[in-house]
Amino acid sequence: MNQEKLHKGSCQCGTVEYTLVGEPLTCYSCHCTRCQTLSGSAFTLSMVVSFDALELGSVKPSEVRFLHKDTEVVRHFCEKCATTLWFSSDAIPGFSAIKPGTFNDTTWYKPVAHLWMSSAQPWVKLDDGIKQYDTQPEMRELVELWQEGMD
Ligand SMILES: [Zn+2]
Ligand SMILES: [Zn+2]
Repeated sequence: MNQEKLHKGSCQCGTVEYTLVGEPLTCYSCHCTRCQTLSGSAFTLSMVVSFDALELGSVKPSEVRFLHKDTEVVRHFCEKCATTLWFSSDAIPGFSAIKPGTFNDTTWYKPVAHLWMSSAQPWVKLDDGIKQYDTQPEMRELVELWQEGMD
């Protein structure tokens, strides 16, 4: 992988830094009500990456475990500024879901799908040509959509 392909990111205060050294598997936005609560916002962005593709800097993020849709997930966050950097779950071993808004450069990716449009805020009017799902599609579909976008 060449240098330009390396994507660096950090929390808001800059204490926790990371580098994505491999290709993401997919990236999507989720409008489910739990993601709205979790983020305190209208929807979330997630980028699924292999844990091997994530290189950590000298300061590791802190972790907290909780239940999300009946699955135990781990939130990885900066202890100083509480920015969430990624989530992981034993349900999907070996993978992390990065919060891609934490990349220093956010111009190189866009989500391949909007999930859970059935619970999207009514003022969210999307005209971006990105595929929409009323509920939760198979992860395999989201991975295929990302691969199509790379061609
Ligand atoms: Zn921080
Ligand atoms: Zn969600």
